[in-house]
Amino acid sequence: MSQVSEPIDMDAPVRVDAPARAGVLVEALPYIRRFRDAVIVVKYGGHAMETPALARCFADDIVLMRSVGLRPVVVHGGGPQIGALMSRLGLVPEFRDGLRVTDADTLDVARMVLVGKVNRDIVSSINVHGPLAVGLSGEDAGLLLASARHADLGFVGDVEAVNPSILHRLLAEELVPVVSTIGADASGQAYNINADTAAGAIAEALGAAKVVYLTDIDGLRLDVADPRTLVSRVVASELRARIRDGTIEGGMIPKVTACLHAVEHGVGSAHILDGRVPHVVLLELFTDTGVGTMVAPDPDTGPGIGP
Ligand code: ADP
Ligand code: MG
Repeated sequence: MSQVSEPIDMDAPVRVDAPARAGVLVEALPYIRRFRDAVIVVKYGGHAMETPALARCFADDIVLMRSVGLRPVVVHGGGPQIGALMSRLGLVPEFRDGLRVTDADTLDVARMVLVGKVNRDIVSSINVHGPLAVGLSGEDAGLLLASARHADLGFVGDVEAVNPSILHRLLAEELVPVVSTIGADASGQAYNINADTAAGAIAEALGAAKVVYLTDIDGLRLDVADPRTLVSRVVASELRARIRDGTIEGGMIPKVTACLHAVEHGVGSAHILDGRVPHVVLLELFTDTGVGTMVAPDPDTGPGIGP
């Protein structure tokens, strides 16, 4: 299991002298100019959401992005929170060939937890700073059209299409959309969609400058147990080889698959970052510090990754 090297006391005052503070702001300036008006999709979930201090940092980061003219869109998961309510309700998860089956009761719980609780918590933590965030489900205004992944898996959905018009409207009003990844098919049947996959599809539909995945590890590693094997930059063809050779497993698979698809369909770059590190999104966006793993298109196929 990965660990942050040193515990960080987020309430301790940061002791940085005045020139260094000014330097940080000056360093941010070219990035702020470059990303002005850019859509940045941030997938938030799991461990980065678990402590109130980290949730506050995340809200600060989103509000700061919005305040300097970027257009953040939050897409969230909530697997652990769904599991916790299922066990409180005495619902036993059913697995078929190692995959969790989403029956009607499980779908109800997932939808209640994601749309009714996790989404609300994120929206209210952002709105402590001002009336900025609007929560919505993929069912709203036809945002996520879903189809059943497999008849045996019940209501697990794939993204059939994204209709981003509601997001464009909210962004035009300078609001911050916060999306739960429940989709609906043409008949109105709801499906639970993997949040990593949905975040990539939404980034593509919006032509986002970046899609950023906050997770519980410092990025993609060649050996998941060894932090020294962190990959700071990878191009699409190499990433594909790493999926084939089994370097990438479990929950990292939908993330890197979504990153690959996104950078090959018009998203400038995709990033996998350690959501347990306070303000990691700001480090990635506004500083020269390289953090996490950046996925870029192959030089000759992609639309270019900028200077
Ligand atoms: P999230 O809640 O962010 O979706 P997941 O648990 O689904 O988190 O996915 C992240 C996990 O993927 C990591 O904690 C790690 O155990 C696993 N993983 C598998 N292969 C790799 C790899 N090559 N590099 C980094 N993490 C990996
Ligand atoms: Mg996951």
